[in-house]
Amino acid sequence: MRLPFTCMKCTFGEDANSHPPYPKYVELRDDGRYEFTCEKGHTTVTVLQEQKFEVLFDLGAYAVLDGYYREAVASFTSSLERFNEFFIKACLFEDGLEESLITESWKKVSSQSERQLGAFIFLYLKCFSESPSLLRQKQIQFRNEVIHKGKIPSREEAVKYGQEVLDTIRPILRRVKADLPSGVEKTVLHHLMNSRKADESQPVGTMSIATIVSLNDGTGKEPTLEEALSEKRWWRDRW
Ligand SMILES: [Zn+2]
Repeated sequence: MRLPFTCMKCTFGEDANSHPPYPKYVELRDDGRYEFTCEKGHTTVTVLQEQKFEVLFDLGAYAVLDGYYREAVASFTSSLERFNEFFIKACLFEDGLEESLITESWKKVSSQSERQLGAFIFLYLKCFSESPSLLRQKQIQFRNEVIHKGKIPSREEAVKYGQEVLDTIRPILRRVKADLPSGVEKTVLHHLMNSRKADESQPVGTMSIATIVSLNDGTGKEPTLEEALSEKRWWRDRW
């Protein structure tokens, strides 16, 4: 999965010519910070707005398109885990807690996903006075077989699993956006700040991409994974 970037100075600056430059494709990065230099030597720094869970779900979708179904299951799983993290942080920020305190506590659970799931379940209960819907046991068993026992899933199994992850995330995401607006805003803001370098001397732009699970999408459209895959295939074939 690569992201298209165009040099802003070549497009809009003094050196802009009548033909806008072709976008340059840059490999996806873990820190969300993209620095590239165009042919004329202008350097642009751009920070990707999307949260990890949004990007990881799309990575899973691309893995399905490319025929890597084990990798797809792994990315969908990571997307769900990072979504739980997003929820936990949004909840705590909503309550007005400081980022340093949240970060300090997160470190104590950061390498154990079961601890994170426990935190998610009880914070969800505290926020909404009910227990969250989780992935079904059958899908958890399937995931464990793929990830820990080397099971090679079929396309159908991988898509079904991805769809269940999508169905688990979406209702909670809608609720978080509606009921924890300030927590969501602060989580997004901190994510953007953390993608920048502390000693950033040049202006940093932000960029947003359309993802299947989307925090920013205001259209209310919620395509199935299979529908989203057809759309992605259409775009990919045109690159
Ligand atoms: Zn340029």
